[in-house]
Amino acid sequence: MIPDIIDADIERSVEVLRSGMLVQGTQVNEFESKANHKLGTEFSFLTSNGTSTMHLALVALGIGEGDEVIVPAFSYVATANVVELVKAKTVFVDISLTDCNIDVNQIERAITERTKAIIPVHEFGVPANMSSIMKIAKKYNIAIVEDAACAFGAKIGTQFVGSFGDFGSFSFHPRKAMTSGEGGLLTVKKSSHASLVKGLRSHGWNDQGECEWAGFNYRITDFQAALLNGQFSRNEDEIAIRSKIAQRYHDEITSQSIIKPVQEIGNTNSWQSYHIIFKESIRDSVKNELLTAGIQTSYGAQCIPMMKYYKDKYRLDSTVAYTNAKKAYENGLVLPIYSRLKKEDQDHIIRMINKLVP
Ligand SMILES: *Cc1c(COP(=O)(O)O)cnc(C)c1O
Repeated sequence: MIPDIIDADIERSVEVLRSGMLVQGTQVNEFESKANHKLGTEFSFLTSNGTSTMHLALVALGIGEGDEVIVPAFSYVATANVVELVKAKTVFVDISLTDCNIDVNQIERAITERTKAIIPVHEFGVPANMSSIMKIAKKYNIAIVEDAACAFGAKIGTQFVGSFGDFGSFSFHPRKAMTSGEGGLLTVKKSSHASLVKGLRSHGWNDQGECEWAGFNYRITDFQAALLNGQFSRNEDEIAIRSKIAQRYHDEITSQSIIKPVQEIGNTNSWQSYHIIFKESIRDSVKNELLTAGIQTSYGAQCIPMMKYYKDKYRLDSTVAYTNAKKAYENGLVLPIYSRLKKEDQDHIIRMINKLVP
């Protein structure tokens, strides 16, 4: 995984360093307005990372003890950790294996009168089924915080993910297609939430200069925002290149015992990762064989109810309730996908996989 940072981006960042305005300069505002313009949102806030954006969203919603928040059982642990941080109860729903996203058919039965929010994840940059999720949200009056950490630039039809829910959260960690080292972006629908998020991001100061809330320091630096401003205009090209790579994996990996990710007709996946799932328990041996052949692969995300903290606290049996999440966690593998991946290197990867998993 090689981040797509070019000399011009570095130069932009260095300029900020030379200027001495390291935080709260012009770069953060520039990126926020560019993001609003692109995503079609009214309010956007850059923050220190993707996790802090989701934390801000839950605090702004007033979610706390006694409340429940629904999250997919398979995601990066941060999606559930933020629910625990505000002392609410994490309620897991299994995923579907074709898109590794929350199984929308299982959401309603997880809803109680304590359910305050759902955090659908656009896992690996594959859009979740937002039309079904927004219908459920409306029917039960539940807030939606989209975890679009992997999905900057992904679309459902013509609408960008991260612009459907009350909040949309993005991450700019180096594992994501656009990066500032650490960084996050929160889109906000309601203006009342927006002023709260803005204040909570910076120690609780409101626009009148009063400390109105006990806030956090979740700001990003201006030299990090400069890196994002540099990459911003290349986001679509990056996705186009990744789409071609994904298409080749899709067409040329032939084994019937591998589940490949889907791209629904009309959608644009951002292809954060190309995550395959083996139907048999051969993941680790395949991973080792690939490494011997010089091919670095990685694991995707976690079956969160199986992680120690969640296992100890909730004692949920994933072999019964979260069979797909468990399968994705134990048999999932992320293949190389980034714009600097050479064609002959991808040929080699595809050849090896077809040989190892006929
Ligand atoms: C990367 C990621 C996060 C966390 O983002 P950070 O910027 O590392 O805090 C949260 N959720 C998902 C699905 C992610 O992939």
